Amino acid sequence: MLRESVRALAEAKIVPFAAAVDEEGRFPQEALDALVANDLHAVHVPETYGGAGADALATVIVIEEVARACGSSSLIPAVNKLGSLPVILSGSEELKHKYLGPLAKGDAMFSYALSEPDAGSDAAGMKTRAVRDGDFWVLNGVKRWITNAGVSEYYTVMAVTDPDKRSKGISAFVVEKSDEGVSFGAPEKKLGIKGSPTREVYLDNVRIPADRMIGAEGTGFATAMKTLDHTRITIAAQAIGIAQGALDYAKGYVTERKQFGKPIADFQGVQFMLADMAMKLEAARQLTYAAAAKSERVDGDLTFFGAAAKCFASDVAMEVTTDAVQLLGGYGYTRDYPVERMMRDAKITQIYEGTNQVQRIVMARNLP
Ligand SMILES: Cc1cc2nc3c(=O)[nH]c(=O)nc-3n(C[C@H](O)[C@H](O)[C@H](O)COP(=O)(O)OP(=O)(O)OC[C@H]3O[C@@H](n4cnc5c(N)ncnc54)[C@H](O)[C@@H]3O)c2cc1C
Repeated sequence: MLRESVRALAEAKIVPFAAAVDEEGRFPQEALDALVANDLHAVHVPETYGGAGADALATVIVIEEVARACGSSSLIPAVNKLGSLPVILSGSEELKHKYLGPLAKGDAMFSYALSEPDAGSDAAGMKTRAVRDGDFWVLNGVKRWITNAGVSEYYTVMAVTDPDKRSKGISAFVVEKSDEGVSFGAPEKKLGIKGSPTREVYLDNVRIPADRMIGAEGTGFATAMKTLDHTRITIAAQAIGIAQGALDYAKGYVTERKQFGKPIADFQGVQFMLADMAMKLEAARQLTYAAAAKSERVDGDLTFFGAAAKCFASDVAMEVTTDAVQLLGGYGYTRDYPVERMMRDAKITQIYEGTNQVQRIVMARNLP
């Protein structure tokens, strides 16, 4: 029922704008409005804090169905989870009440600020500093590639509080867009997910109360990694959603398009491609759902499954979307059809929340 209702909403309110959002590189406000109106913008927030209280699998299904319509729009529910999960996992009750309520209501979005210009895969090599000053922390630095930066009200920011301790000297904070000293870079000009703003976040002597720290001092990096164990599964969901959108479109096209006097769907070469696409996609979906169940139970092998789901599903999404372009021939290569957008959107799922090389490192270190 959840899938059917999100799909119907996405078809009616998100699909009609998806091409324009991509073409114009603009934030999908229509999608945000529709998701908020239907309480689907941050479904993971527990009921105690005013949220819908969806479990990890239900959250995956919401993201998957939004991504099937528009990859950029799926980053609204996905990044709201990514940004706020550090607070949910490690924050004080006060922080949870203060920040999760407005998120659940749709009054504020939440971003996640870990990466920096010189600290991507090696996130622990970050330079952003937080220095204690009485009852305050003062933050200085540059965060890069921050999804929904400028649109979000709240940011989980990881910063170095003790430079001698590397990853154990990193702490997490909630920073608000309106805090003095917060500003944003120009939107990045990207290959895909063009409707999702990606910007630098500048922290220039940002003075925040000490109770904005998430968890204890020095636990920020551990919280950041624990968060990714859960949210990589939402990127897997985004990947399978985008791939499903491309497969569904290609499936319809091959029955309409005629060459050699018959629909191209009659050719076994085309049928075999579709069979492979559907087979790989379903394998990715099942791995993602298994990982979501592990996320919900916080199983001991979650780290492996989170990395495996994200890595496998994103590689499958890249293959399936590329094959969908192939099945539409020259038409697939143009913006008159949605599959080239889906192929461009799929690419990012192999890069963010840790590249697929990094996922393989994580899997190798956590073999089940
Ligand atoms: C559109 C977009 C949105 C993003 N959103 C966010 C966000 O909201 N918040 C956030 O914090 N970050 C975000 N990121 C950052 C993203 O997570 C990083 O780009 C990613 O982790 C890779 O870091 P990097 O770009 O510095 O690449 P690098 O780390 O420089 O990697 C370059 C290449 O080297 C490879 N490599 C690096 N180290 C190893 C190794 N040890 N072994 C094998 N190969 C290796 C990588 O796999 C990659 O192929 C976003 C990025 C993009 C492009």
